[in-house]
Amino acid sequence: MTNVPEMFGSMVFNDRKMQERLPATTYKALKKTIKNGEPLDISVANAVANAMKEWAVEMGCTHYTHWFQPMTGVTAEKHDSFIYPVDDGQIIMEFSGKELIKGEPDASSFPSGGIRATFEARGYTTWDPTSPAFIRDRTLYIPTAFCSSTGEILDKKTPLLRSMERLSSVAVKVLHLLGKTDVTRVTTTVGPEQEYFLIDKTAYDKRPDLIFTGRTLFGAPAPKGQELEDHYFGAIKTRVAAFMNDLDEELWKLGIFAKTKHNEVAPSQHELAPIFETSNIATDHNELTMEVMKKTAEKHGLVCLLHEKPFAGVNGSGKHNNWSISTNTGENLLDPGKHPENNLQFQLFLAAIVKAVHEYQDLLRITVASAGNDHRLGANEAPPAIISMYLGDDLGAMVNAIISGSEYVPQSKKEMMTGVDVLPDFKKDTSDRNRTSPFAFTGNKFEFRALGSSLNIGCPNYMLNTMVADELSQFYDELAGAEDLEAALRALVKKTLTAHQNIIFNGDNYSEEWVKEAERRGLCHYASMPDAMEHYVDRKNIDLFVRNGILNEAEIRARYEIELALYSKQIRIEALTMVDMAEKNILPAVLAFVKELTDTALAKKALSPQYSVYAETALIEKLSAESEAFAKKAEELEQAVANAKQYRSDSLALAKYYRNTVFVLMNELRAIGDAMERKSSAQFWPYPSYGEILFGV
Ligand code: ADP
Ligand code: MG
Repeated sequence: MTNVPEMFGSMVFNDRKMQERLPATTYKALKKTIKNGEPLDISVANAVANAMKEWAVEMGCTHYTHWFQPMTGVTAEKHDSFIYPVDDGQIIMEFSGKELIKGEPDASSFPSGGIRATFEARGYTTWDPTSPAFIRDRTLYIPTAFCSSTGEILDKKTPLLRSMERLSSVAVKVLHLLGKTDVTRVTTTVGPEQEYFLIDKTAYDKRPDLIFTGRTLFGAPAPKGQELEDHYFGAIKTRVAAFMNDLDEELWKLGIFAKTKHNEVAPSQHELAPIFETSNIATDHNELTMEVMKKTAEKHGLVCLLHEKPFAGVNGSGKHNNWSISTNTGENLLDPGKHPENNLQFQLFLAAIVKAVHEYQDLLRITVASAGNDHRLGANEAPPAIISMYLGDDLGAMVNAIISGSEYVPQSKKEMMTGVDVLPDFKKDTSDRNRTSPFAFTGNKFEFRALGSSLNIGCPNYMLNTMVADELSQFYDELAGAEDLEAALRALVKKTLTAHQNIIFNGDNYSEEWVKEAERRGLCHYASMPDAMEHYVDRKNIDLFVRNGILNEAEIRARYEIELALYSKQIRIEALTMVDMAEKNILPAVLAFVKELTDTALAKKALSPQYSVYAETALIEKLSAESEAFAKKAEELEQAVANAKQYRSDSLALAKYYRNTVFVLMNELRAIGDAMERKSSAQFWPYPSYGEILFGV
């Protein structure tokens, strides 16, 4: 039997180990830095580095690495050994405070969006003491932020840390105004639910599309998909269960609170939900979780697919970002309490969030935009590409009462009046019935549901924190001078909810009517990644980040360039992979099958002219026509990719070209390929079928 409490966090240099191994004064100084964001003294850093190294060496480590989250979308690491030469060609194991605090990876190969000229290739990684160091593969991992030598931010962690600071300082001011003077710090918390596919490695290895792009670019649907709904929460297969148990243990060792696991809607699809943590640690842990998932799958002869849409025709994978704000005194600021109608503090925070989501709905859309997620948003499996908010029956009724100045009757109370329910208090359950909403209130937190499965959650969270901080700061300015605070507060809440109620929608987000209704309300509807990304650099968005000290204009423009370039590159790789598969394997396979059919027909006729060759000729006819169209379409696609170079100097135009021309041709090519797969002999088809992949584990 594994002793879980003992195993939990065994690979983490956590608070307990720090307390055990650091001198009391050092420990206190470090805690101050972690808790209050105070700068760290070098003598403290030296002591911490030494304690970390001793622990790591005891655990068998020889190396350390600064671990960071550049704009590539995956984490990066550069390993250095602890060895330090001394006299007589001997070595000792050394690790200084300087090495802990600062690293200098060659930054020239990481995307910078034009910020960093190539002659100035230096980049810096800086220790993030708020996220604990950990051990993987006999290496000590130190979570760090990453910036250029001239100070521009090149990663996803720094803006998140800044946004948490900003939200904290503003929220504390607001709470002090409301009389909560004991609050000194406010933190955002996140619990990301992670979806993924698990498939057999042998099938994966035969699919260049999965290997190069993470998704299948061809593939006729299997006779069975997800229509029986027999996979969701179904019994977990032995091999998958073994993987999940192994995964849990690996994550627990790393101090990650993996809590819930179950099968998802699509065949071979699963989900893991952790217990929430501060946004910063939750982000690091989600990145780690995805990496550990992939590694653990390998050990079991499986492959973990984190792409948003690995298979056409069945659901893709997303991530639900459960988000809340709480104080250092232990209060969840998004908990409505038993009587939200009397809870002005809650109403104020709610109003700030409603206003933020309404004014920056484009940013929330942008932050989940990617080539992979384009397949999901608006496809009746994920929230639509239109951002709206769901508050649930109780809160919705409360907001309506505030706006109209009428009396609030909670929905649960209505039930009580009919004698059905004896619980008149605010009920958590009434808030979680709409699974189609992109941004839903779920009891004491908001669930942002539009994230793609592979996304680094740092981005949506720094945007969310920043926009809410900005609104709270405006509220503070408005309330600070008020003579009658309560009256001013009530007026502000009413004014804000009235002005921004258009973002609230409690109906079915998947319906056609909503698309029309949203248009009437003037909400943004950006169907694709380039359409959305275009607005990242709108003046109001640049101003938001600059005003709140999160990113400067050059950094925002760099991010815009990087994201667009990434999108174009991904579509390009997909298109080239398709051409390759089409010309090298699919077309030859179909032609060989046609030849086989022709030979069969001729042989039959030679034997006796009376034999019918109906089946052969019908197939020959259809496959000949399709293979001709297929060959032409493949050529057309290849040519379209080559033509992309005319847009090289304009990243937005290039991305739009890939979306509107290349991607469209890809879909057309796929349609013909899949039609041929349906008619061709399985013996001739060069790739494992959807049936084999999706039901193969
Ligand atoms: P539900 O059943 O309504 O989905 P759960 O309690 O199961 O809610 O939580 C779902 C996810 O939300 C979990 O990852 C959980 O850790 C996270 N979560 C719960 N409370 C908070 C909070 N205050 N802040 C952030 N995430 C939270
Ligand atoms: Mg979920």
